Amino acid sequence: MGTPFERTMTVTNGLSLLAEEMRKNPPPALEPYGDLVWLMLNDMVVHYEEVAAAMADPSRKVAMIQFGLMPQLFYAFDCAPLSLEFYPTFFSGLDQSVIHAFLESAEEAGLPPEVCSTDRFLVGAAINEEFPSNSFFATTSCPCDGTRIAYPIIKEILQCPTIYLDAPFRHGRDAVRYYAGQLKNHLIPFLEEATGKKLDIDRLRETAVESNRAFECMLDINETFRLKPMPYSGYLRMMPFMRYIQGAGSPRVTQALGTFRDDALQRAKEGQTQGPFEEKYRVLWVHVPTIYDPSIFDWMEEELGAMVVAHLSVPPILEPIDTSSLETILEGVAWQGLDMTMSIQRVETEKFVEWTLMAYEDYDADCLFVTQHVGCQSICGARGMIEKVGRDRQIPVLFLELDYNDSRVLSSEQARIQIEEFFETVMA
Ligand code: SF4
Repeated sequence: MGTPFERTMTVTNGLSLLAEEMRKNPPPALEPYGDLVWLMLNDMVVHYEEVAAAMADPSRKVAMIQFGLMPQLFYAFDCAPLSLEFYPTFFSGLDQSVIHAFLESAEEAGLPPEVCSTDRFLVGAAINEEFPSNSFFATTSCPCDGTRIAYPIIKEILQCPTIYLDAPFRHGRDAVRYYAGQLKNHLIPFLEEATGKKLDIDRLRETAVESNRAFECMLDINETFRLKPMPYSGYLRMMPFMRYIQGAGSPRVTQALGTFRDDALQRAKEGQTQGPFEEKYRVLWVHVPTIYDPSIFDWMEEELGAMVVAHLSVPPILEPIDTSSLETILEGVAWQGLDMTMSIQRVETEKFVEWTLMAYEDYDADCLFVTQHVGCQSICGARGMIEKVGRDRQIPVLFLELDYNDSRVLSSEQARIQIEEFFETVMA
């Protein structure tokens, strides 16, 4: 029916051209940052090229991993990790026709349209034989019911080696120790069997040290978002965290984030954080923004002076990895996996709201945008509590009912109308 990774590489080649174009002719909001945009997009291109290369290399494997799992351990086994929840968002902003085709395949196969589009897309990708060959699946029980339903279906279609790990719904040291035990007692033996390689603790430590370097860069970059005005555009501000989550432990990602960090610190030192448009409002966007239309950030800056910092793309609660022993490394990797984007929603809503308020204070935001993603029980279920907190604390909140993968649910035009009305009425 399809050739593994064929559409992915077609879109990757298109992204490579787009990256060059953005470098030479960036849109107005990104004009001062053309080289950085290229750097981040090119890192994404190389990431997918590395997955394609591992498909063709009998000495390696592609590790298809779910949110709740970071890449470090997989790099230690010389695998090419592919974060599956990021996979649809890769197509979302670049080629909506692939999104629509895979969603329709999943629905024709019987998956209800009420299921989150991330999971529907992944089932559709499996049906269309798009997933990389020479691969295995490592899945966890977080972040949500949608993934718990989708992954066994995908396993049945692909018939590839699969492991299911149990991610605790609690937060804190005990939960991390439990999950680190899952990595040690279940994931590592699985990886040894799937790759035919034994765990090399020195190699694992190397990847953990490498990821700590990238982590430091990411924190430094994010620190500059507290400055007024904050540097970069909303689109670019999301990128360091996204690159980290997908490539922590890879020297390529460390290098890219190092260059970004140098630029951010230089701008901060010279007081050059003002972009092309005056900052009037600071928006904390809770959950996933309109990935299907990244230009909405530029539009918000140009038309409304509204600067976005994305809530699930900020790392204030992640910790670096203690590399002193196998146990501490696994706990560090476990903790980052549990607290990464979306997995963090496995915990009680009150905690999620508390972190939201923390980020709101940290970035001195003026209002909240809250995505109400179709099929996401976590963020839609949190609406009542966020509404109450907004009222009690007099925080202006805009709820946007959309599907971050699928532009047909709330079109870019409709999203812009709602955003414009919010600033003209509530924020005026
Ligand atoms: S958006 Fe919600 S439903 Fe979809 S994968 Fe994330 S947590 Fe699960």
